[in-house]
Amino acid sequence: MAHKSMILIVEDEGPMRELLRFNLREDGYRVLTAGSAERGLSLVRSRKPDLIVLDVMLPGMDGLEMCRRVRQQRDIPILFLTAKKGEVDKVIGLKLGGDDYVTKPFSLRELLARIEALDRRAKGAARSAGRLRSAGKVTLDADSREAAVRGKSVSLSPKEFELMNALMAADGRILSRERLMKIVWGYEPSLELESRTVDQHIALLRKKLRPEQDLIETVSKGGYRLRAGKSRARTR
Ligand code: CA
Repeated sequence: MAHKSMILIVEDEGPMRELLRFNLREDGYRVLTAGSAERGLSLVRSRKPDLIVLDVMLPGMDGLEMCRRVRQQRDIPILFLTAKKGEVDKVIGLKLGGDDYVTKPFSLRELLARIEALDRRAKGAARSAGRLRSAGKVTLDADSREAAVRGKSVSLSPKEFELMNALMAADGRILSRERLMKIVWGYEPSLELESRTVDQHIALLRKKLRPEQDLIETVSKGGYRLRAGKSRARTR
């Protein structure tokens, strides 16, 4: 199981903060806590939490202002804790697509369900943003398993697709034949014969990438990598 997200709780009331910390830990999350927005912002910078549970009413800087400042740096999903009707309206005015809020007093079960939903949505969005990859003039779509060279669709075998995907994910770093064997075929090569499998597939892949075949560079004694022109993940 993938390990759960890191959640930052920003709440000035000690007992409430402890209650949330305890229950989120019980649920398997990693938890950070802050008693003020100022401390919360510093944790956002230093620890990069995946999600923030943010009390709106805080001494000093309030939760709404903290939210604005967080947004200037990163797009972290926020679950607001609100106490009054007036706060709900302000939160609604401020929240982005991914955010949510609960009104105090709330049931713990509801809060945990909201956190889980928010977290799942944010992770889903992050994943789909990485489904389309490109390097130079070659594009891979991980959903449809389609590849395109200079905008023209090319048909890659599953192994060729995985090879290209691995090279793109490496983003210009060298991948040894052994490493590619492990990533694409799922096992460690023990014979020279097996690492030659990689060379043969790379040769086929290059043919299909014409006229962009030089994108894949052979590094003597090292393995393979993509030439400069960094690969990138794009949102549709
Ligand atoms: Ca408060």
